[in-house]
Amino acid sequence: MLAGERMNENQIRDRLVEHGELLFKAPYEFVRFTKNDGADRLLNDLVAYPHAFVLASVMDRQIKAERAWLIPFRFLEKLGSFSMETLVQQSESNIQRLMSKPEPLHRFVEIMSACFFKAVQRIAEQYDSDASRIWQDKPSSATVVYRFLEFDGVGPKIATMGANILAREFKIEFSDHYSIDISADVHIRRVFWRLGLTPKEASVDQLIFRARGLHPKFPGLMDSPAWEIGRNWCRPKRCECDKCYMNDLCPSANKN
Ligand code: SF4
Repeated sequence: MLAGERMNENQIRDRLVEHGELLFKAPYEFVRFTKNDGADRLLNDLVAYPHAFVLASVMDRQIKAERAWLIPFRFLEKLGSFSMETLVQQSESNIQRLMSKPEPLHRFVEIMSACFFKAVQRIAEQYDSDASRIWQDKPSSATVVYRFLEFDGVGPKIATMGANILAREFKIEFSDHYSIDISADVHIRRVFWRLGLTPKEASVDQLIFRARGLHPKFPGLMDSPAWEIGRNWCRPKRCECDKCYMNDLCPSANKN
């Protein structure tokens, strides 16, 4: 890489980080996970229902996120309660029934019912039915990611996403942010490519390690600004570069 390109890349990184910090420091705002108000209220209530957030994360696998994050609310509707007392009384077969009838809540009902059941048991036994203990007392980001990984069916992508949402959206304090990665969705992928940070066909791992290399202290900090740029201006077929705050640094500006 030429010295000029390196300097431009550093400037791109610095600007993304600067905007990421502004978004990170913004006060908490109600988080829209689904298009259902009741479901979103449940998921935002980390004081009374921290397990709803954790169980929704566990369900976020191989289906659209919006559908997965609705599952705790569908259980609440069917059971009349989403308290841990109620959930822990449900047998695995009852959870499978609730998950499958009248219409399946997930594409993989059997596997995900087992994951849901085991997650409830884990929260009850490991965290004394209080899932907020996963992130209490300012743990390190690696500790929180690891605790999510301990749930059956949760891989690194969901584990880091969970930690990222807790830190970024819910303003939960961590002692560091080293283990909070970017979530490599379509917007991040497109914006990183157009900004010249990764190739067009970069793998998820390439994107994650690129972000780690650019900002090791908090790689996930670049998630929000890149997502915002991709969502608002850097669209797949049409770019509004004149409105984008990266346009004086972006190698693709006005070419798309
Ligand atoms: S300047 Fe244009 S091409 Fe570059 S990131 Fe912004 S919208 Fe995308």
